Amino acid sequence: MRIGLGYDIHRLAAGRKLILGGVEIPYEKGLLGYSDSDVLLHAIIDALLGAAALGDIGQRFPDNDPQYKDISSIILLERTYELITQAGFRLHQMDTIIIAERPKLGPYMAQIKAKIGPILQLPPERIGLKAKTNEGLGPIGEGQAMAAQAVALLEEAKRPRVID
Ligand code: MG
Repeated sequence: MRIGLGYDIHRLAAGRKLILGGVEIPYEKGLLGYSDSDVLLHAIIDALLGAAALGDIGQRFPDNDPQYKDISSIILLERTYELITQAGFRLHQMDTIIIAERPKLGPYMAQIKAKIGPILQLPPERIGLKAKTNEGLGPIGEGQAMAAQAVALLEEAKRPRVID
């Protein structure tokens, strides 16, 4: 078994779609960044890469490479899952937290699971999705940003190998 940890934060801005876990969520602002800035998927990607010792999202998908401009992070998640598979791992279980003052995210959790479960080859009972506020504190509490954390547990599906 290998454990991986991921964290990400993005600013909120008007005129952007809010995409979390590959699902578009109605809100007055969206996350700002080079890709679609799906903060939850970025944390999950870093947890997966970290568990397999495959570097991080910035190394794998550089934000100065035009091929990643406005890209759906679902595609980055698919590529990441391919990488960990090639490296000899499969995902056993995962847990996550989204930290956002607004909007209420509970109603979207089932949709997010339905979106990412098939990509990660995980049944819903092995995907932890939680959302909490920052109690009004700091930039997240003031609604200027959203953050996410993820842990992923990988198991060796075959003898792990090194991938550059
Ligand atoms: Mg990010």
